[in-house]
Amino acid sequence: MGRACSRGAVSLAAVLTIAAAAAPAGAYVVPEIPAPWLDDIAAAVVTTTGPVIYVNVARCKEVGADVCAFVRQHEHAHIRLNHASSFYTSYVNGRALAEAEADCWAARNALLIQVKAAVAHFESPALATLEVGDHGTGLQRAKRIKACRKL
Ligand SMILES: [Zn+2]
Repeated sequence: MGRACSRGAVSLAAVLTIAAAAAPAGAYVVPEIPAPWLDDIAAAVVTTTGPVIYVNVARCKEVGADVCAFVRQHEHAHIRLNHASSFYTSYVNGRALAEAEADCWAARNALLIQVKAAVAHFESPALATLEVGDHGTGLQRAKRIKACRKL
């Protein structure tokens, strides 16, 4: 029986390998739906009619267009990398792995200006040491994003 790891203990090497192996899908379109009720910038949800990305436009304006674009890429990664599958939902550290993979995928697929904006966002004093669930702290995310983009 496995032992629960602390949050953020996901191996960066494993994340890099998985994110690199995920081939971009050709005709892959997941709709983005405005969601003013969402208590976050954006969220990926698999509905009964398929996956969607809910986006809180007001929160996007607060963090800026480039950070918002990075976060939207992160949410699309959750869909592309099948993070709703049982592997990620039942594996003891699966949620943290999914968040790390989504950050890495976004780091590699977003525009450089968006990646740099996200790094600055996560390194900001308000987020640097703030632990946000399975995402880890802002500094952990910034480090992961920079490693994945080779910054
Ligand atoms: Zn996520």
